[in-house]
Amino acid sequence: MSFTRLTDSFGRPIDYLRISVTDRCNFRCIYCLPPEGFASLGRDDLLTFEEIARVAQIFLQMGGKKLRLTGGEALVRKDITKLVSKLSKLKGLKNLGLTTNGFYLKELARSLKKAGLKTINVSLDSVLPSRFAQLTGVDQFKKVWEGVEAALLCGLKTKINVVVLRGISPAEIISFGEMARDLPLEIRFIEFMPLCGSGWHPEWMLPIHGVREILKKHFSLIPMVRGAEVAEAYQIQGGQGVLGFIASMTEPFCSRCSRMRLTADGRLHPCLFSNLQFNLKEKLRGGWADHEIAYAIAHAVGQKPAGHGVLWPIQDPSQFPKIRFLGG
Ligand code: SAM
Ligand code: SF4
Repeated sequence: MSFTRLTDSFGRPIDYLRISVTDRCNFRCIYCLPPEGFASLGRDDLLTFEEIARVAQIFLQMGGKKLRLTGGEALVRKDITKLVSKLSKLKGLKNLGLTTNGFYLKELARSLKKAGLKTINVSLDSVLPSRFAQLTGVDQFKKVWEGVEAALLCGLKTKINVVVLRGISPAEIISFGEMARDLPLEIRFIEFMPLCGSGWHPEWMLPIHGVREILKKHFSLIPMVRGAEVAEAYQIQGGQGVLGFIASMTEPFCSRCSRMRLTADGRLHPCLFSNLQFNLKEKLRGGWADHEIAYAIAHAVGQKPAGHGVLWPIQDPSQFPKIRFLGG
């Protein structure tokens, strides 16, 4: 069965679902950790693998193409490879990805690939072990890097997410560039966003264009045409990898946004910056038929805002909702 294709009220096709599989995390990144610490949902609060697969299948029947698992930290969810295996077999799926802090990747990369995972995004905000420890609260740079190597070795398409915070040095930025030159990796520099976590710290914000300028001076960058991708991307002349820039605050990509987000406890969010949410879990557990769930998804998509509407420099931090969003 197929349902009406998803397009929001501004004409944007919606084909990408980010699925949080847990609100737990074994890291304490300074820009993510809420002051009250991570909440822990009870076992019954979490969507089961069957429930996640059901929502995902309906989304794909509505024209969805891409699924990404995230968290909290997705690799701490028990039997995550079983979920990957289940989702990878869904009809209509074009790409299945997962975003991770990399801690358990060395152990899991091969089985994730075998289960059908196509792409893995590893968060790595520093190449300096001591700064990595300061930013994440975990002194395990080496273990995470070994995870990246394991992902590359087993043939997973691998991207590194670098949230750029003031304090990152030009030398470090160039080291990331060298990483993308020498390895078949995409390194994506991401602007700090004032999301839930620790809230808004203007002093941490470093607009991405400065990072891009440093890299342009050091490497010969060839712009890539990438359609719906949110990152502005460049190949490095003579290199293997790609450099990407996600300027969510200074150059928002809202007009090209194709995403919806499902939290670990089954709420559908049309936008990371909005408090709008739609409870799918009660429908999944309340005996609703697939076409009724499809209607609920379409309704949520219809409420997607035009954009986050906040441009750097931010004058009034109170405009940010205080949401406890359980899905990165
Ligand atoms: N635990 C996984 C990880 O760290 O990759 C997945 C969840 S995490 C919330 C998803 C992504 O959001 C990570 O790349 C993380 O660096 C990024 N992120 C979290 N808080 C952010 C913020 N305030 N601004 C920009 N990116 C943020
Ligand atoms: Fe955990 Fe990812 Fe948040 Fe860091 S960014 S605290 S790894 S969920």
